Amino acid sequence: MIEIKNIHKRFGMHQVLKGINLTVHKGEVVTIIGPSGSGKTTFLRCLNLLERPDEGIISLHDKVINCSFPTKKDTRWLRKQTAMVFQQYHLFTHKTVIENVMEGLTVARKMRKQDAYAIAENELIKVGLQDKLNAYPSQLSGGQKQRVGIARALAINPDVLLFDEPTAALDPELVGEVLEVMLDIVRTGATMIIVTHEMEFAKRVSDQVVFMDEGVIVEQGTPDEVFHHTKIERTKRFLRRVSPEYLYEIKEHIKEPVI
Ligand code: ADP
Ligand code: MG
Repeated sequence: MIEIKNIHKRFGMHQVLKGINLTVHKGEVVTIIGPSGSGKTTFLRCLNLLERPDEGIISLHDKVINCSFPTKKDTRWLRKQTAMVFQQYHLFTHKTVIENVMEGLTVARKMRKQDAYAIAENELIKVGLQDKLNAYPSQLSGGQKQRVGIARALAINPDVLLFDEPTAALDPELVGEVLEVMLDIVRTGATMIIVTHEMEFAKRVSDQVVFMDEGVIVEQGTPDEVFHHTKIERTKRFLRRVSPEYLYEIKEHIKEPVI
């Protein structure tokens, strides 16, 4: 379980996160939705201290990290437990696909190259890129690049996977292949926090849906509660804007409840 308490983050005078609390149990999938600029990316980045919160506590495995004064050791430890998939992939352009996936293992984990290669190859097979191990990112489509990003995150075997709008930079016809790979990961029982605008996907995979606006969590609940029994007017307005058909019946919900 990861417990996040009272995360605050300010950039200059702009208070971007105003006290975010979230508990994610092992094996849960939480999706975060909300308008552009509401602080979703900043929140995810705070969770692995790519951004240092001004205030807040993250508890994971009985370890409690005071985010405003994390020690180097805490930061390293937390980054081992979490892995981020970025909207813009963030691949090394001068490294091959498999070298990109090995990087976190050989550098941060000091793993032997041979062992890292075996893990990286295995993860790339899982995302369907066994034919692209020695290709360079420039030779890949956006969907393939993002699958490399996902394989890289999986390779370090994190406790929590963080996805920041993983399909937002893709041409529409490439979105499906990335969502398919994410569905496979959901089925493995991984703990995932996903920022997305893919509402059908969010309905289908989430244990909890969180609607964020202006640096606060406005509404939170099961997909059925948030999408079909929306309580807060602000959430309703957002849902109407992004998916005018949002009152449609919920589709197949693939997950069993987490105990
Ligand atoms: P979202 O992901 O929901 O679109 P972001 O977390 O990216 O929102 O941004 C929230 C707000 O914080 C925006 O107004 C953005 O301009 C601001 N912001 C984000 N990162 C920085 C930064 N490094 N410096 C200054 N302002 C930032
Ligand atoms: Mg964002």
